[in-house]
Amino acid sequence: MEETVEREIILELKCRFFDLISTGGQSLSYSNVLSQMMAALQALLKADEVDLYSCEVWNQGLILEATTRAAGNEIITGKVPDCLLSNIGSGQNTFIVKPAFMPNHDLLFTFKDNEKLTGLLAFKMNSNSPANASDRLLEMISHECGAFIEKVRSLVHTLEEEKRYKQLFRVTEKFHSTMDMDAVLGEIISTLQEVYPSFTYYLLLSHDHKGYGGLPVKDLEYDSENFTAMQSYVSGQIQFEDSVADKNSIMYAPLKGKQGVYGVLQVIAPDSLVFPQNEVEFIKLLANTAGSALENAKLYEQSRKLVADLQLINETSHQLNTSLRLTDTMSFICGQILKSFKAQEVGFIMLDSENDDYTVVQGSTSFFFSKEASEYIFDVGRRVQREMEPLFIGDFVAENGVASLHYRSVMGVPMIQSGELKGFALVMHEEPYHFAFDTFKLLQSLIHHSTLAFTNSILREELEKMVVTDHLTKLYSRGYLDDKMNLSMLEDAQGTFILIDIDNFKGVNDKYGHQVGDDVLIQLARQIAKNIRGTDIGARWGGEELAIYLPGAPLDIGVMIANRLVDKVEKHTNPSVTISCGVSTWIKGQEDTVKSVFKRADQALYLAKNSGKNKVVVQKENQFNFISTQE
Ligand code: GH3
Ligand code: MG
Ligand code: MG
Repeated sequence: MEETVEREIILELKCRFFDLISTGGQSLSYSNVLSQMMAALQALLKADEVDLYSCEVWNQGLILEATTRAAGNEIITGKVPDCLLSNIGSGQNTFIVKPAFMPNHDLLFTFKDNEKLTGLLAFKMNSNSPANASDRLLEMISHECGAFIEKVRSLVHTLEEEKRYKQLFRVTEKFHSTMDMDAVLGEIISTLQEVYPSFTYYLLLSHDHKGYGGLPVKDLEYDSENFTAMQSYVSGQIQFEDSVADKNSIMYAPLKGKQGVYGVLQVIAPDSLVFPQNEVEFIKLLANTAGSALENAKLYEQSRKLVADLQLINETSHQLNTSLRLTDTMSFICGQILKSFKAQEVGFIMLDSENDDYTVVQGSTSFFFSKEASEYIFDVGRRVQREMEPLFIGDFVAENGVASLHYRSVMGVPMIQSGELKGFALVMHEEPYHFAFDTFKLLQSLIHHSTLAFTNSILREELEKMVVTDHLTKLYSRGYLDDKMNLSMLEDAQGTFILIDIDNFKGVNDKYGHQVGDDVLIQLARQIAKNIRGTDIGARWGGEELAIYLPGAPLDIGVMIANRLVDKVEKHTNPSVTISCGVSTWIKGQEDTVKSVFKRADQALYLAKNSGKNKVVVQKENQFNFISTQE
């Protein structure tokens, strides 16, 4: 064959090859191009069959990559014969006629890259095959085929890369649009499954994570099985583990952000002894992106929690600084803690100045007013007093060895103001290890921020009480009684007033001295307090005269109470004294004043004194007629 003819053949082959890839574009398929290329060669060389083998670099194994044979035929894989390897030497792609080591084939093209065999194109000829193809022509065809296959491979690789990086870009975009950790983790897995469907994936996360519906998440723990994973987590570097026994290789990519490593992505490549190098870079990038996204989500979650915590503290101290009653404030704070901390019992315990007695603040949950509570209060109180430090008890039962105790998670936070222990807060739950350490820290912060306002509230309440309380009798002061009666006459439908005077009190003072007289006064006050309800007002009217106002009560109730008191005082005072009472009442709709109510009771009392004492006299319905109820 003439040289010009041969050149034309080569030129035409190149044109065919070019056509194969110039039309493909995005949808270029490696296998399609290969099979078309081989069909062209089959036609050109009039071969029966063409087989393309690729040669694995790391073990020189031959893999049948494409063939013109009908599908379903047996596929032969094997090793590259040593003679071929030793023969390869330098130089370019070449050909071998009638290779001894492949007796079924008549012609072999060998392709090389950097002195290494990369592939073989094997031909079976039939009788019509051109025996007259010159060595030079075969050499040229071999060269073109090798170059073409190389080109197609790199082209397909580039397109694949492009597709992957588009995917990576899409994923990154998605990562940054979500602040939800689960969504980020789910996206990592689904992207990898799309790109490498034959690989297996696990997310190894340190176990403070919870949730993840259906995600392949494993705990990252310090155990020998996960040694490589742990290495990757600790060092923040990619690690590999090739297992000959399991016939797989594993890559560990740390999910790394700017501030730390959040977990490790485990990728298992099946049927390979070394992790495919070209996938490493992509997985590494994906893991890094995911790490930053996880970090963002985590920071976002943290900041949201912080905002919520601050809100709780802010709301609570605000509440403490408003002029609400202490009991209402306490109920509010306890409610907040019950809700935010998922607690079952919340109590505020105030210690007295010697720290040897305590008071449970009203508004604490009712448990703290029961007998069982003292066990917790004493134990925690003792430790708080000794250490002046907060207590975080995961299992109160285990710690104390008392199985009968109901609440097992216990937090105790001292309320310290100006270096002085004022009391402590107790927060409890029946489940052991119920509270997270974060919750404990938040409680400390809450108590720390509230203590001043809290103790001020208590002081204010005490001061208010002091102002309206008579020092000697501990009954209310006259001013307070006045105010309450005025208020009652505006709001209630009726009310009854009892004025009480000790009979012949001067004589008691004279006989026993003023001190004993005072004590008798205190005894009388105690009898009054014992015989009225919380809403009634017992007051010191002045000197040895005391008074009771019963808001909403009709006259007969007042008379009953007055009579009972007359009876009891005589029996329960030492030295025994008697009292006289004047009772007056008012009803809505009749023109009346507090002053007039006082005056009527005073007049009734006067009548009692003048008719034998030790009795109750009531104003008559007609305001200035009086009846005596006791002779
Ligand atoms: P009666 O009321 O039965 O007419 O005789 P009385 O001796 O009680 O007379 P009156 O109520 O007028 O006397 C009031 C006396 O009570 C005068 C005073 O010595 C005594 N007294 C008033 N306030 C106190 C007090 O705070 N402590 C003591 N110990 N005595 C008081
Ligand atoms: Mg008097
Ligand atoms: Mg008197």
